[in-house]
Amino acid sequence: MSKEDNVNKEVPPLLFDHFWRYDEVMDFISRLAAARPELVKLSKLGQSREGRDIPLLTITDNSTGAAEDKPAYLIHGNIHAAELSGTHAALYTARQLLVDPGAADLLKRIAFYIVPRLNPDGAEFIVTTSGRVRSRTDRTAREPNTLYQQDLNDDGLILTMRQLHPDGPFVVDAQDTRLLIRRRKEHQGSFYRLLPEGLIHDWDGSDNIRVEGRSLDWNRNWSYDWRPEPEQPGAGDFPFSEPEMRAMAEFIHSHPNLFAILGYHTGPGAVLRPPSTGSDTDLLESDWQVLQELAQIGAEATGLPIYPAIKYHAADKRDINLRGHFHNFGYHHLGLYVFEFELGILANSAGITTEELLAATKDEQREAIARRLMAWWDQQEQRDPVYVPWTPFSHPQLGRVEIGGLLRRHLAGRTLPDLERIAQGTYRFTLEHASRHPRITVEDVTVDRVASEIYRLRIRVANRGQFPTHISEKGKSLRRLRPLRVEIHLAHGAELLSCEGHRDLGHLAGLTDSRMLEWFIAVLKGGTQQVTSSLAEIRVFGGTGGNLSLVIPMPK
Ligand SMILES: [Zn+2]
Repeated sequence: MSKEDNVNKEVPPLLFDHFWRYDEVMDFISRLAAARPELVKLSKLGQSREGRDIPLLTITDNSTGAAEDKPAYLIHGNIHAAELSGTHAALYTARQLLVDPGAADLLKRIAFYIVPRLNPDGAEFIVTTSGRVRSRTDRTAREPNTLYQQDLNDDGLILTMRQLHPDGPFVVDAQDTRLLIRRRKEHQGSFYRLLPEGLIHDWDGSDNIRVEGRSLDWNRNWSYDWRPEPEQPGAGDFPFSEPEMRAMAEFIHSHPNLFAILGYHTGPGAVLRPPSTGSDTDLLESDWQVLQELAQIGAEATGLPIYPAIKYHAADKRDINLRGHFHNFGYHHLGLYVFEFELGILANSAGITTEELLAATKDEQREAIARRLMAWWDQQEQRDPVYVPWTPFSHPQLGRVEIGGLLRRHLAGRTLPDLERIAQGTYRFTLEHASRHPRITVEDVTVDRVASEIYRLRIRVANRGQFPTHISEKGKSLRRLRPLRVEIHLAHGAELLSCEGHRDLGHLAGLTDSRMLEWFIAVLKGGTQQVTSSLAEIRVFGGTGGNLSLVIPMPK
């Protein structure tokens, strides 16, 4: 057994056996950082509203420079509370980067920032109760006649309450009595209304019961094209009004080295790309081509179909406009090629495709899918507890109800073994996407003595990465993607005879673009400050291509 194998053993395994509570996430990443301190730094993005640290992993080979000086790739997961799969997928990539020999070279050149659980409060509510929250529900301002979720029968879960009611819009499905289906005119007998398990605040006894308070969707809280509620449901009070999102915005804007961002979600499995409003014609033609090409790599690696975000909806709907959404923020504000992976829902694990799920727009179609899902679930040997039988309960306000039904926590994601397969694919995509990073190099360094005390220094500054330093064509015009700047710092006793001590080079295209720079330097002899070992130091500030510094030795 080699030494490397021994070291690898200390990296904790990532088990795809259950969704993790916050403490389990923190424990795992602490052990990752402890096992590979030369590659992983653990810090926090910020603090959640309820006071939890939002963990941030910085992964790079520190022996080749600090993360801030390298091109960087950001991954975030679990912005939506129930989308716990995103945490596991992000952590899968984090762990693979440490143990995959194929990633070692990449980690010398670039850094990864990984935020596996952007929404620790919402996720904790879902993991511990299986209740329902988009990103955050405002449960502090209690409104009258509003039901707030709560575990009433002490089984540790927030499930569904069904109650017989003459106006009830649901009936028990004759084909699968565990399910409730929409009431139709031919239905007779027992009609049910459904409510989440909980209590109604300040109830006036009427049937007009609201469910929960204001619901916030943080993927409508990004700054580009933000619109207020109710025009854009879930938008929040202003762009980045949510503290977790503000922490993300501050991180992004203080890291000009970012060249790509990937978000993990859990809807019907898909590779999502910009745009999130309007149409493909809002993207520059050449950028659209690169987005398509990269999305195709993601689709081949994962087996998931590609959708521009505007078309990720039920098949009978028009294109959608998602205001304040990640995709348009990433492309229009940052100039980056950004993607989201919708990792898939339980129905995908049951063999129901995303195309089928989006095409099921009628009640009968949706009911048929629910029956297929239950039939598949019945056949599983090792199965998650997806269904809890309906059990009578005496509700303090509503009287006789039954509590039970499907666990939303498990419906919202693939089975975990199935998720591992997808996470392997998203990791391969990330490596491919990341390997295109811009890469600033200094080449062809020569120092010639042109007169007794005068030297000519020449260097070539090049971008040998595939992406240009402005990443997308869109990025060319944005202030955020910083153009290159070169500075020369002379040793004591040396003096610049020509040009300025700094040069602004603008952006460099990918692979084949470089600039020759030349300085004439006088070295004063006989002064008290003798130039001995080094002549100068060259510093290159490369924006997305990395920063570097190079000491030019005094020629012999
Ligand atoms: Zn989502």
